[in-house]
Amino acid sequence: MKSFTHINARTVEEACALLRQYDGKAVLNAGGTDLLSTLKGENCCSYPEAIINVKTITGLDYIEEDGGVLRLGACAKLSHIADSPLVREGYRALAEAARTVATPQIRNMATIGGNLCQDVRCWYYRYPRQLGGPIDCARKGSKVCPAVAGDNRYHAIFLDKKCFAVCPSDVAVALAALDARIIVAGPAGERSVAATEFYGTLATMLGKDEMVRSIEIPKSSPHAEQRFTKFSLRKPIDFAVVSIASAITTEQGICTHARIALGGVASGPVRARDAENVLMGKRINEELAAEAAELALKGARPLSKNAYKLQIAKTLVKRAIMGGL
Ligand SMILES: Cc1cc2nc3c(=O)[nH]c(=O)nc-3n(C[C@H](O)[C@H](O)[C@H](O)COP(=O)(O)OP(=O)(O)OC[C@H]3O[C@@H](n4cnc5c(N)ncnc54)[C@H](O)[C@@H]3O)c2cc1C
Ligand code: SF4
Repeated sequence: MKSFTHINARTVEEACALLRQYDGKAVLNAGGTDLLSTLKGENCCSYPEAIINVKTITGLDYIEEDGGVLRLGACAKLSHIADSPLVREGYRALAEAARTVATPQIRNMATIGGNLCQDVRCWYYRYPRQLGGPIDCARKGSKVCPAVAGDNRYHAIFLDKKCFAVCPSDVAVALAALDARIIVAGPAGERSVAATEFYGTLATMLGKDEMVRSIEIPKSSPHAEQRFTKFSLRKPIDFAVVSIASAITTEQGICTHARIALGGVASGPVRARDAENVLMGKRINEELAAEAAELALKGARPLSKNAYKLQIAKTLVKRAIMGGL
């Protein structure tokens, strides 16, 4: 690991001011479970001059409900979110998503802000210097994406034009299904971004001097069946090949409200709006669930080696819908 300046931030405002001062040459460190491995691997073309520690910001790890909204500070730990009775009771999809992340040790360190902002897991992008990297690619500023002609089995099936890496965050998928908003702080003040809008083709929507301050989730109907399920290859610990989060409300078998988000398929979580719409006001049965699953994947365009994700995603959508009955 190369040397860098380490600064303990005391407030969100100070952290953002430091980001501005370093003009793209500083990064935030929360739990460090992702950042430190990318620094050690030196897989990116540029190396930060400064690391700004946000764990030293007092009171940024809250989990509280207020006026029908759950508010989570950016430094709330994933283990606390997974175990919180408040989250488990009213925001179950989020608690389940947090519980499936990595290992207990990582969840004890990892924060929700860091989980949302973690770097992609594309193996070309992460190829370490020790093995001959870094590999240049569109996400690092070049025009070429080696994954297009290469091994893209874990890449996106809803395609962007430049980068095909999928968002690795399980939590983001639950937040998308729960209509969460991400509160972003910067020198100009605060702005609120829908969880579904937080990820762009090449990075998050954060500016160079912005950070995640908190997450807000409106309370769902107490009758909504909330779920998070992930398909991964190594069950005890692995990123999702495909994941799904859902909140589906039925009254006597008739769907009155449906929210479904898919993960592992694009640069951010994807809301399956057509699938949600087709369920509304109808009696849930296998045929309707199969129709919704087809609609959820309608716009998908797999790469050369990842068409298998289509069937997994459809199966997860069907199970999420049928599971509520
Ligand atoms: C073995 C292993 C298995 C894993 N499995 C999974 C999995 O199954 N599912 C999953 O979702 N994740 C998985 N992860 C990733 C893990 O969840 C992330 O490393 C973790 O959530 C990152 O949180 P952190 O607080 O440690 O972030 P850090 O490592 O401190 O930061 C990560 C990135 O986010 C930025 N950042 C941190 N906080 C903020 C903020 N408030 N605002 C803006 N930017 C910020 C940092 O600058 C950095 O770029 C796995 C990781 C490992 C090592
Ligand atoms: S998919 Fe994205 S991160 Fe991976 S090599 Fe292509 S441009 Fe780089």
